[in-house]
Amino acid sequence: MNGHFYEIESVALPAHLSSLSKDVPIATNGQPFPWDRMRLPKTVYPLHYDLTIHPNLTTLDFTGVARILLDVHEDTSMVVLHAKQMQVSNVLLLAPEGVRPLRVLEYPPFHQLALLSDSVLTKGRRYEVQLEFAANLSDSFHGFYKSSYRTKNGEVRVLASTQFEATFARGAFPCFDEPAFKANFTIRIIREPRHISISNMPKVLIHRTLSLPGDLLEDHFDTTVKMSTYLVAYIVSDFLSVSKTTQHGVKISVYAVPEKIDQTAFALDAAVKLLDFYDDYFDIPYPLPKQGQWNIKKVQREPVLYLIVFMCFPADLAAIPDFQSGAMENWGLTTYRETGLLFDPNKSSASDKLGLVKVIAHELAHQWFGNLVTMEWWNDLWLNEGFAKFMEYISLDITYPELQVDDFFLGKCFEAMEVDSLSSSHPVSTHVENPTQIQEMFDDVSYDKGACILNMLRDFLTPEAFEIGIIRYLKRYSYQNTVNSHLWESLTNICNSDDLDEGRIKHKEFCSKQSIQSGASKWFSGDELDVRAIMDTWTLQEGFPLVTVEVRGREVRLSQERYLKTDDPSLTEGFLWQIPLTYMTSASNTIHRFLLKTKTDVLYLPEKVDWVKFNVDMSGYYMVHYAGEGWNSIIKLLQHNHTALTSNDRASLIQNVFQLVSVGKVRLDTALELSLYLSRETEIMAVTQGFGELVPLYKLMEKRDMAALENQMKGYIVDLFRGLIDRQEWTDSGSVSERVLRSYLLLFGCVRNYPPCVTKATQLFNKWRESDGNMSLPVDVTMAVFVIGARTPEGWDFLFEKYRSSLQMSVKSRLKSAMAVTPLQDKLKWMMEQSLHGEVMKTQDLPDVIVSVSRNPRGYKLAWDFFRANWHTLIKKFDLGSHTISYMVTGVTSQYSTREMLIEVRSFFGSLTEETGSEMRCIRQAYETIEDNIRWMDTNLPLLQGWLDKRSRRDVHEDL
Ligand SMILES: [Zn+2]
Repeated sequence: MNGHFYEIESVALPAHLSSLSKDVPIATNGQPFPWDRMRLPKTVYPLHYDLTIHPNLTTLDFTGVARILLDVHEDTSMVVLHAKQMQVSNVLLLAPEGVRPLRVLEYPPFHQLALLSDSVLTKGRRYEVQLEFAANLSDSFHGFYKSSYRTKNGEVRVLASTQFEATFARGAFPCFDEPAFKANFTIRIIREPRHISISNMPKVLIHRTLSLPGDLLEDHFDTTVKMSTYLVAYIVSDFLSVSKTTQHGVKISVYAVPEKIDQTAFALDAAVKLLDFYDDYFDIPYPLPKQGQWNIKKVQREPVLYLIVFMCFPADLAAIPDFQSGAMENWGLTTYRETGLLFDPNKSSASDKLGLVKVIAHELAHQWFGNLVTMEWWNDLWLNEGFAKFMEYISLDITYPELQVDDFFLGKCFEAMEVDSLSSSHPVSTHVENPTQIQEMFDDVSYDKGACILNMLRDFLTPEAFEIGIIRYLKRYSYQNTVNSHLWESLTNICNSDDLDEGRIKHKEFCSKQSIQSGASKWFSGDELDVRAIMDTWTLQEGFPLVTVEVRGREVRLSQERYLKTDDPSLTEGFLWQIPLTYMTSASNTIHRFLLKTKTDVLYLPEKVDWVKFNVDMSGYYMVHYAGEGWNSIIKLLQHNHTALTSNDRASLIQNVFQLVSVGKVRLDTALELSLYLSRETEIMAVTQGFGELVPLYKLMEKRDMAALENQMKGYIVDLFRGLIDRQEWTDSGSVSERVLRSYLLLFGCVRNYPPCVTKATQLFNKWRESDGNMSLPVDVTMAVFVIGARTPEGWDFLFEKYRSSLQMSVKSRLKSAMAVTPLQDKLKWMMEQSLHGEVMKTQDLPDVIVSVSRNPRGYKLAWDFFRANWHTLIKKFDLGSHTISYMVTGVTSQYSTREMLIEVRSFFGSLTEETGSEMRCIRQAYETIEDNIRWMDTNLPLLQGWLDKRSRRDVHEDL
């Protein structure tokens, strides 16, 4: 490429330039840079991008030309936009008066370019700028990056794919890389004939592919709808595809590497089913035609026109061999990890199936929530992610009822509460500015807490009202950007709205029903329902409430405070929520409702009761403490008649009581007494929550020198679930929940050396090995069998050989997990090294390997050393602030509970600089978790010892 080059280096942000610098920023050429904020000015807006991209998969770099049509909102002589780590050249202003070169300044700390014009760009006029650019394909998992795979014959093939969310489009082409700068994109890709290219849109009907000199082809894609830069996508590869058309006429294709294309049928069917579901549920066809171009009602009335318009919009899915997160919702071209999309019905487990449809449901929900209506800025990321997470459950409940997805929702809320109970948590809506802070928003608070508070709101408003409200939100704000209040307004006074389709029968019926019933329910006490006032307490302050309930006769005293794991009580002051309380009592199965707005309140029951249960089915995002005799009456109920409560209620009681031990509200003995009923429990959510509270206790002990108590604790848990484990068949029969539970129980039995499990698994492993892996094992028992096999060097090597040669992603992933549970330290070390290297084990899997090894009692020291030694490589590969980095930081350290380890952890993270991650929230989370573990052990170890001793004496006595 010719012309003058401006070299843009990636430079980490110096501390003094955080947001609004008082100093004048200096461009790379030494001149003052004319813009001193990280957010772009709002003087010019991009309307349309013409992009030509030419990746070279041999030299692993790319060149391109961007022509951007601008709308000037205020007179200015500069255009500030983003570009990162690329050479930009030949920058021109294509003004109506003629073509003029623009002067370019770069400011790498903010990834910004300023294009300076010697004449003023006038308000109200449109201009075009053109930039040429060149860069290397990224070696990470974001931007325009390189991926590769090995064929069965050992040949390595390279492809190039994109991942732009949140701030990586700027590494692929110069752009206004903020979600509110929506524009249309017309993309052309230059490639070699041996490759194909795909992008957000299908290729145009005429002149779809042109021949260029040098044996190259140029694909021309149709112009996209108006969208944010982070949703642009293109892939150049040798992928094959399979296709189907939905009932609504959208053509869906699934792309994968040629040798795995036969594993795409399930994903294709799932995508067809789910896209049809969303089309109906949201009452907005996928996607709306370009604004102003089509009259939607006319199009829908005329089938021929409808087909022409909608057949053009694809919904493609592609499995990328190297992928950091689970999947990405690029409009019209969602991308996935291979494990998230490829499925072999004979080799995949029930949870593989569930995981796959969940991820597709999530990405397709984004086509409306996120793509069509986008948050104004990353501080409200939850509007995208909370909704997409929540819609996974709503959509699968209807499209795949047999998967019983509801059984798993509660787990998301428990996970969210774990990080939300630390003082390092943050409000759902949080001010963020720099890319690291933006990356950090992709966490359990935005996703899981977001979904849980939406679920609470849906329960509060009723599902019908909620659905009407969100449709109204999507229709009102199509192709626009929103903030929280837009959502709350859309969910308010739904029956007074006139902006809905008149044909929406559900809406009319619902509203006429409500008007008859109005006043009957506390929820609809008419005008006083202020959705925004309620929800602001859940999105603008961090943490969640603990509601203390004390029953005295017919009187129920209520109080709320922040649930926080801390030894500084002052940190819980100043928090107040509007809590939609629900409860039932021994006297009535009806769900009673009450909106608690104050710090304390009192309810009166019609009669005296034996027990109350608040937060029915745990639809609310809060914990409950039953003061006075409350917990004792619940323990009695669980002991004698646990099915009087739903399994969600039982699971929430288990979670609440153990979490209350951590904040000193309940004694450990009380929680352990409650856990005794688990020997009769059979439902998945309650059983896994029992494990979820009890197992971490001995996991902490495994990382300390206390084998006696550790074994006593393990023995207790095995005893508790012995009956349930014994009842498991070693087959794949039963419902999804039963199968997931079986897989979990047998794995637990084998890891804990429960003899009947170990014997059976050993037999199966030997047979399987003798058949050279050809014998087909029931899928749900394979983890248990592999884990036993991985205990000997020969067994481990055999598993690795199968891992290396397998093309089945789910099998590979189980083999890898099992290999990381081995007690053989040299193997653990080797796995981490190989994953970092990326040859025989993919680097995308390194985070899982490191975290598994750090939970392994024989591996945790190795993992900690490896993690520290390779920190700089890891943050470069996975990016500062990313969920992957946070997962490793918290995953590696969460099972430490000694002051020595706290000092070691603090000394390592304390040695980092801002450029190497010192400011990341996950580091504070790691400290807090270890401090909490230390406090827990100090307070509760003697109690635990005493209770277990007493119990074993009690058992001996009973045996006699
Ligand atoms: Zn998402």
